[in-house]
Amino acid sequence: MTETEVSESQTKGSYLNELAGSKTGKTTQVRGKYGKYGGRYVPEVLMPALEELEGGYERYKNDPEFLAELNRYLRDFAGRETPLYFARNLSKKYGLKIYLKREDLVHGGAHKLNNAMGQALLAKYMGKTRLIAETGAGQHGTATAMAGANLGFETVVYMGAKDIKRQQMNAYRMELMGTEVKAVHTGSKTLKDAINEAFRDWVTNIANTHYLIGSVVGPHPYPVIVRDFQSVIGREVKEQILEKEGRMPDSIVACAGGGSNAMGIFHPFVEDKEVKLIAVEAGGKALKCTGKAALHSACLCAGEEGILHGARTKVLQDKNGQILESESVSAGLDYSGVGPELAYLAESGRVTARYAIDDEAVAAFHELSRLEGIIPALESSHALAYLKKAAETGELGEIVVVNLSGRGDKDLETVLSLKRGV
Ligand SMILES: *Cc1c(COP(=O)(O)O)cnc(C)c1O
Repeated sequence: MTETEVSESQTKGSYLNELAGSKTGKTTQVRGKYGKYGGRYVPEVLMPALEELEGGYERYKNDPEFLAELNRYLRDFAGRETPLYFARNLSKKYGLKIYLKREDLVHGGAHKLNNAMGQALLAKYMGKTRLIAETGAGQHGTATAMAGANLGFETVVYMGAKDIKRQQMNAYRMELMGTEVKAVHTGSKTLKDAINEAFRDWVTNIANTHYLIGSVVGPHPYPVIVRDFQSVIGREVKEQILEKEGRMPDSIVACAGGGSNAMGIFHPFVEDKEVKLIAVEAGGKALKCTGKAALHSACLCAGEEGILHGARTKVLQDKNGQILESESVSAGLDYSGVGPELAYLAESGRVTARYAIDDEAVAAFHELSRLEGIIPALESSHALAYLKKAAETGELGEIVVVNLSGRGDKDLETVLSLKRGV
């Protein structure tokens, strides 16, 4: 298969690929490649929107006025900079010096607002008046609702009808902030159907609408834009660790779903070869697949090259190239793809890909709560779970930074129901 083709087996199940396969019969592939990954595997009808976005980003990304305004919002609205906290009890237990980057303290309880605020402000500078987004568990929808309300946008979030039922509080949270939550009743009524609806909306309303994608995924320029807005995490870590330790860390550990908190903390360190970068994926029940579904979400560890949401990357797919549903106890990691740049860095060996299964993450969730008085998100708990495995092999060195991507308040019901065995 060449870069400009989408094979028949990969044209099913997604609006992007449906269009690519039927109407024009061709896709366009341009900049934004990471080795063989990345690119823009989209139908022609989406190209003007992506090009306009790329142009807008190039124009404003180094604009002093834009950056000053963004920094103001990040400081006064989002609560940056976040602390780099020395977790002394956890450190003692594992015989390492463990620092936690406290993204759990960002407004909304996770790193997601860094990107939502950045893209919303960019959209405003580009003259857009309407934001759309799609959300699975509701976390990215909530971050978009916050940014949208704050900057005065009309905001619409697409959410699968099944997900709305499962996440009523998040849907209500968005509505409180003036966002219209649109239920998607097609297909499996979950995230992938919501993504299709969001693309459909964007194509129709390109003139006034920005599609705010929530992770380092999708067609170019999204993986670059989201990475850059999240890189504030790694830039702060670099200054903070030099101040506290007078040197670079030996390793940095982050959980990876789409990969935005991982790319955000890794990116400023990619050239610092002495710093080991470790992405921890969701191993779910086990690294196995049954029929139409994977029992995990570990695309770097156990996925294959394929195309998902307009980019070539590592995905979970069956022998015929059909995307498999993923599984994880943490909604934020439950995704069948991963960002193309992270796939490239993992394949080239710069990033080490590991995984933790559900039970290990839940154990780490309890451990950090008890040892440090910090309840971590189940997503971040995967990164913490990996500390335990790695402390035994010594592969982390002495000074370790863990990206605590979010707080666990949203996960209490999940953890309680596990305890009760329901
Ligand atoms: C959404 C989310 C993630 C997963 O997204 P990435 O793009 O992989 O960072 C991780 N942690 C938390 C707390 C999240 O809300």
